[in-house]
Amino acid sequence: MDKKIIELKEMIKQSENIVVFTGAGISSESGIPTYRGEDGVWSKYDPKIYASINVFEQDSTYYWHYFKDERYPIIKKAKPNKAHYSIVELEKQRKIKCVITQNIDGLHQMAGSSRVIELHGNTRIITCLKCNRKYSMDEVFSILKKQLPPTCNCGGKLKTNTVLFGEQLPINALEEAEIVSKNCDLFLVLGSSLVVYPAANLPIIAKNNNSFLVIINIGATPLDDIADLVINDSASNILSKSI
Ligand code: NAD
Repeated sequence: MDKKIIELKEMIKQSENIVVFTGAGISSESGIPTYRGEDGVWSKYDPKIYASINVFEQDSTYYWHYFKDERYPIIKKAKPNKAHYSIVELEKQRKIKCVITQNIDGLHQMAGSSRVIELHGNTRIITCLKCNRKYSMDEVFSILKKQLPPTCNCGGKLKTNTVLFGEQLPINALEEAEIVSKNCDLFLVLGSSLVVYPAANLPIIAKNNNSFLVIINIGATPLDDIADLVINDSASNILSKSI
């Protein structure tokens, strides 16, 4: 493993335009469980019911139960960990130009990353689908204690700014992510199983445009074979040792 850390350090040293791509794994050490796997959130909440746009449009009660009992308490107390702060440190060194994240927890911004492209939205912002008023998680949690599903003062339906299954990714975010992936010299994956598309196309785009591809993930991924370096370890452990 030490040899791989030395190799990663050298790659970072040689790079001037690193794009970091993060998934649920980077936030697991902040206490936010990943979705997949035995202890994953989806083993308790079937995503076809609790995180589907079709079900949400017909009856948002399922989603808001999941938000109130599972998502809010966990995200509310989560703080960035060493991996998020190492990314900020590499941004200060002018190595990292951009973070692309599949996460909806807002921890990169909380740590201090200045350019974060959120492919799947952010659960901390909640919008009224009728009048577009924005609410914080705390405000909606207060409403939820009295009324589930919650509604806006205008009577409109509320929705977190996250992409549910069956919804399109925000087109501007995806386009911006494709551009930075094409132009980077090192594409660094941290804590993603790389099975959710179209997000998982981005490492391929980077690689096809002559970037190095490094994957730091505890489990194996389908893109390990095309990566220049794969480290199966904790993102916070490896990254903090590599800066
Ligand atoms: P995933 O759950 O499919 O995969 C997570 C990967 O992280 C796994 O392969 C696992 O081996 C690895 N991992 C776990 N702990 C790690 C650690 N400490 N260091 C390095 N690797 C670690 O997650 P995904 O690829 O991001 O895709 C799932 C989808 O779930 C995404 O769309 C994302 O929006 C969403 N999600 C987000 C959050 C969050 O915002 N924190 C949490 C759960 C799921």
